[in-house]
Amino acid sequence: MNWKTTFRKLTRIPLGFYTVLQQTLRKPVTVQYPEQTRPMVPRFRGRHHLKRYDNGLERCIGCALCAAACPADAIYVEAGENTNDARFSPGERYSQTYEINMLRCIFCGYCEDACPTNAIVLEPIEFPTGYSREAMIYTKSMLLESPPINVPATPQVTEPGKFDRSIVPFPPIDQQA
Ligand code: SF4
Ligand code: SF4
Repeated sequence: MNWKTTFRKLTRIPLGFYTVLQQTLRKPVTVQYPEQTRPMVPRFRGRHHLKRYDNGLERCIGCALCAAACPADAIYVEAGENTNDARFSPGERYSQTYEINMLRCIFCGYCEDACPTNAIVLEPIEFPTGYSREAMIYTKSMLLESPPINVPATPQVTEPGKFDRSIVPFPPIDQQA
């Protein structure tokens, strides 16, 4: 080893220390997610909600069109039968099981577009987080919104013939009072 190689190697050591010191003093660019979050852009729609009508009945009729439209195969729907003594939604069927795997969801909004009753809606809240795969499967009880104040939840006892049709005329959600 000649003196030039030795000199080059010796200068590398202080240079390495300098680089480490420089990086140590820099402000971190990482965010301690999920404890810390960055504000999302206002247009972000990241959390699904299952909506109700004003009378407390669920809009979801268990048709699974959202599941068929989902490109990520993230939605699982199992329908149950409504009766007048235990009615969850207008029409024959309701969603007995409704799950969304948020690890698969790509937030495309196709489920919203496919829904014939405006039941599934994405809303702007913080990005969903969880520490396990199971925690990232959102169940119906997590997705279904509460009934309006002083309105009974589902199942309801309803008058025969009053809610025979699954699709009832309704104003779009953003035009409701
Ligand atoms: S937003 Fe898109 S990917 Fe997510 S559940 Fe709906 S259809 Fe599937
Ligand atoms: S959310 Fe809409 S499309 Fe999906 S099962 Fe319910 S009614 Fe059908």
